[in-house]
Amino acid sequence: MRCFKHQDEPAIGICSNCGKAVCQQCCRDEARQIACSETCVQETFLAQQLNSRLRQSLGVGIKPPMPPSVSTYFLFGLILLLTGVYLSLQRGSFDMLTFAVAAVFFVMSGVSYRQHRNRCLSC
Ligand SMILES: [Zn+2]
Ligand SMILES: [Zn+2]
Repeated sequence: MRCFKHQDEPAIGICSNCGKAVCQQCCRDEARQIACSETCVQETFLAQQLNSRLRQSLGVGIKPPMPPSVSTYFLFGLILLLTGVYLSLQRGSFDMLTFAVAAVFFVMSGVSYRQHRNRCLSC
């Protein structure tokens, strides 16, 4: 990969704000993150500040947050379960497939929750 500004320079990193490839010359790391320009430095810095403020006010970061996959799987499972109930009522017959898929999502949610807990016990 080449620098977005200097075609003959190899890129050493990606701007964490806009995703452009930057070379040694263009790389700025004031915010302890790679940025391609002063604007991007400011924006990553602001984003970091915002994040840490959000974390403080929500108490996030003190406890390790739930990985998104657990709630996503659970939500999908719930939606499918409700869809299954709805379809079963509409058709007057048991909609086995939707319930089966819903069950798979619940199991996946449970598995990733357990993985998450195991990781936290060791840290
Ligand atoms: Zn940038
Ligand atoms: Zn460059």
